[in-house]
Amino acid sequence: MKQNYAIIGLGRFGGSICRTLAEAGQEVLAIDANEDRVNEYMNIATYAVVGNAQDEAVLRSLGIRNFDYVIIAIGEDIQASILVTLMIKEMGVPHVVAKAQNEYHARVLEKVGADRVVHPERDMGTRIAHNLVSKNILDFIELSDEFSLAEIRVTNPKFFNCSLVKLNFRQKYGLTVVAIRRPNAKIIVSPSADEVVLENDNLLVIGNADDVDLLDRKLNE
Ligand code: ATP
Repeated sequence: MKQNYAIIGLGRFGGSICRTLAEAGQEVLAIDANEDRVNEYMNIATYAVVGNAQDEAVLRSLGIRNFDYVIIAIGEDIQASILVTLMIKEMGVPHVVAKAQNEYHARVLEKVGADRVVHPERDMGTRIAHNLVSKNILDFIELSDEFSLAEIRVTNPKFFNCSLVKLNFRQKYGLTVVAIRRPNAKIIVSPSADEVVLENDNLLVIGNADDVDLLDRKLNE
């Protein structure tokens, strides 16, 4: 379904969202106070406009309140990011995603109504660190303070040809296998209990980060 998106701030983060949405055939309005940035996205976004998003009249004239999604990708100017988030939520936009520079900024963005707060630098740092610590954790995404999603390679032959019910990771480690990635095959989403783990499989598991690390050690002893 085609939805409409407005992106405020065309730095690396906002710019990359703009490019990806446009490539996916979505309607994108791109706004930045910097004319050079706007020129860069003139042929990528559906509309690209120079404007200061802190100016409520600018937001109104662009009809921001009619957008399904607004992404606030202003970085360094924390005050601007907070004020713009507040104004856009007050206009009644249903889905507002805002980029935070740090935890304090994130808390304020949540308080003023952001529906989703993202920390791209922190999250990418976490993902890369997990992959550096264990070569067999191929990806790691923190879903919340409690839960993470990890893709773990299985190299310990002890686990090959065992069914998920036999391995019983839920009981042993509190982890749920949500998918199995098998080379040259379709990803097996929501595998059944009798699905068998094969050599070269990667398991996508959800659970606590410490339990993920524990399972990773077992799968690769
Ligand atoms: P990134 O890491 O995504 O490259 P950044 O964290 O370095 O970005 P900035 O460069 O500070 O963030 O801001 C991103 C963009 O937001 C810039 O292009 C800047 O011109 C734009 N911007 C900042 N404030 C406003 C504003 N009030 N209205 C419109 N655009 C703004």
